[in-house]
Amino acid sequence: MTKKLNQIYEGKAKKVYATDDPNLYIVSYKDDATAFNGEKKGQIVGKGVVNNTMTNIIFQKLEVAGVPTHFVEQIDDRDSVVKAVKILPLEVIIRNVAAGSFSKRYGVEEGTPLAISTLEYSYKRDDLGDPLINSDHALALELATEEQLAKVSEYAHKVNEVLKAYFLDKGLKLIDFKIEFGVDKDGNVILADEISPDTCRLWDVITNEKMDKDRFRRDLGNVEETYQEVFNRIKKGE
Ligand code: UDP
Repeated sequence: MTKKLNQIYEGKAKKVYATDDPNLYIVSYKDDATAFNGEKKGQIVGKGVVNNTMTNIIFQKLEVAGVPTHFVEQIDDRDSVVKAVKILPLEVIIRNVAAGSFSKRYGVEEGTPLAISTLEYSYKRDDLGDPLINSDHALALELATEEQLAKVSEYAHKVNEVLKAYFLDKGLKLIDFKIEFGVDKDGNVILADEISPDTCRLWDVITNEKMDKDRFRRDLGNVEETYQEVFNRIKKGE
């Protein structure tokens, strides 16, 4: 069994540990929640368990669909073994329906369907507030190579297609989501980080109720209950 060694990183929602295998890390999901670039802080009890398990279920489905991921195995409720990667400093966002910063920036009402699935990059820099960038910016700043960006874009759209159908089957509309990619020891671009109600906007198909972190960001109430409800719907099909 993979042995957890020293902590090498602590992010807003997860801790990352070295292991006895230099090619593997253990990620440990916390209940801590932040929003607005860390300005709003809180806890969502049980979130770590939901996000760990949900990410692993989804990553395994994506692997089957041809998207390589960092997932290796789940150890327990909160901890998973993943491949060690170097994270590309890009937040990769795909939007199907206008919401959040897109609605604000372009003056489009939340809930307006977009004519195409829209890929967006942000530069992962907390000190700059993760600014929106385009692919030329990413190349100019040497955040990724052209080949890596091509893979990122191809995989991100594939993730969108798989997840749209998957969530719809659970009675959830995939409005938008953020994913991150890493480069493994062999130089391959693979999906890393997580896919959860923290990183996706999910609206109930019938009521349009927000079933994601917007309940925490916008103080909509029933935050814990909503994470559990999404988790129950995910587990039902397993
Ligand atoms: N998102 C994320 N982490 C971030 C920023 C955004 O997971 O640091 C997700 C967010 O949950 C949503 C999508 O990316 O599903 C698009 O977010 P948006 O740009 O609208 O930003 P927000 O309105 O959340 O500030």
